[in-house]
Amino acid sequence: MSGLEDLYREIILDHYRNPRNQGELEVPPAVMAEGFNPLCGDEIKVHIQVDDGVIVDIKFDGQGCSISQSSASMMTTAITGKTLEEVEGIIYSFKQLMSIHEKSLEGGSETVDSSTTGLGDLQALQGVVKFPVRIKCATLGWNTLEQCFEELDEN
Ligand code: ZN
Repeated sequence: MSGLEDLYREIILDHYRNPRNQGELEVPPAVMAEGFNPLCGDEIKVHIQVDDGVIVDIKFDGQGCSISQSSASMMTTAITGKTLEEVEGIIYSFKQLMSIHEKSLEGGSETVDSSTTGLGDLQALQGVVKFPVRIKCATLGWNTLEQCFEELDEN
């Protein structure tokens, strides 16, 4: 198990040191939202460009701990080119991954739901959520992405 945890740590550090899709998109026409995690001081800005129901471009920018930044970086690689419906499914799977571990901390079953497979690098974050305070770090980028979706709905 420690081998797997080392691998996960490597993936997280790689995304933290070399964030994918970092930057901004022009607003408008892109949609932008900002998220803040006061518990840790993490900040994330997410810009998405949606064309015909597909996320054609996404950029993020921010500062904070390695968990918050690497989670956002992995998120951008997971959702680029996906339809909004597919992305909602990925958001659900990721939050499921986080909540499974919340439950297992409460003595529940440790069985991984099949819906969380296919998250790719994002699976690396499952070790992090043994520390409940870090769940807010890991989900910050995702909650910010959902704020982008709310902006879209208003337009
Ligand atoms: Zn954090």
